[in-house]
Amino acid sequence: MVRKKYYPVIKDEELISKVENYAEAVNDKTCTWHLHHRNAILFGWSLQEMKDNCIYFHCDPEDLIFLRPIEHRRLHAAARKRKNSRPD
Ligand SMILES: [Zn+2]
Repeated sequence: MVRKKYYPVIKDEELISKVENYAEAVNDKTCTWHLHHRNAILFGWSLQEMKDNCIYFHCDPEDLIFLRPIEHRRLHAAARKRKNSRPD
């Protein structure tokens, strides 16, 4: 399952099927997948940081990924750990 309320983050709703894991996400009846920005996961960027840099809304499909909730939490925890261990 996926939620349509997340779709403003993609530049064109018709491109949603090009987002990684889309087919698996829509066909999964056991949980609601989260549409996510790759950079938030990779670099631990916050929602506010992305909005400030104008990279939150209207993304290309390759900038996004569908994640299972459990994977979403795990990746954020890993990103936080990396960010906190980085010297300033
Ligand atoms: Zn997240």
